[in-house]
Amino acid sequence: MNIIFVGAPGAGKGTHAKKLSEMLNIPHISTGDIFRDNISQQTELGIVADKYISKGMLVPDEITMSIVKDRLSKEDCDDGFILDGFPRTLVQAEELDKFLEGKNRKVDYVVNILVEEDVLIQRLLSRRVCSQCKSTFSLSQTCVKNDTCPKCGGKLVKRDDDKIEIIKERFISYHNQTEPLLNYYAARKILRNAKGMESYEQTLKNILEAIDITK
Ligand code: AMP
Repeated sequence: MNIIFVGAPGAGKGTHAKKLSEMLNIPHISTGDIFRDNISQQTELGIVADKYISKGMLVPDEITMSIVKDRLSKEDCDDGFILDGFPRTLVQAEELDKFLEGKNRKVDYVVNILVEEDVLIQRLLSRRVCSQCKSTFSLSQTCVKNDTCPKCGGKLVKRDDDKIEIIKERFISYHNQTEPLLNYYAARKILRNAKGMESYEQTLKNILEAIDITK
């Protein structure tokens, strides 16, 4: 199955895309994670991407498309993939379609996790990421104590772009550039909305129902 996760920043795309990738045994591909890995290693791609990400702007389509095409060409994507945070523009969506068509493949489902904007902002402000295992937590979780990862003991840090000024810019990019994708996929009848305001378990259930998977 070829699945895309869309939704505003903080909607839970990463958390649920990761879980679904384990359940379906297909790779989870997050363009944000690829950019962050490159930034931390100070690669050429990372240095360029950081200029945009640190301002809450989208990385240019040409750069983003090339890393996604490379990644989707790897053998582990042959049986399906979950794209998290890609596409984020109409140009990316159209290019992805063309690329997949060339391989006689298509996007099966586009999952849109629905969360109110004020809740999203609070989530992003209290989000912490493990610098070792990259798991994501919220300061509101009882298992999170003293900035230590409950899973691996690594140090929990705030993402550089989870600061209020940058969060605001990310929402502007989302509304202007990414939201139009919802109509694009709705017109093709592959958009599936899933309520994402309740617990982790309930949101996962909503997503599985939306894509016709029964546990
Ligand atoms: P994420 O981890 O998905 O929230 O992505 C973090 C940041 O990486 C975004 O705010 C963008 O600046 C950049 N980014 C991730 N995916 C894309 C994409 N598909 N197109 C352009 N920029 C992206």
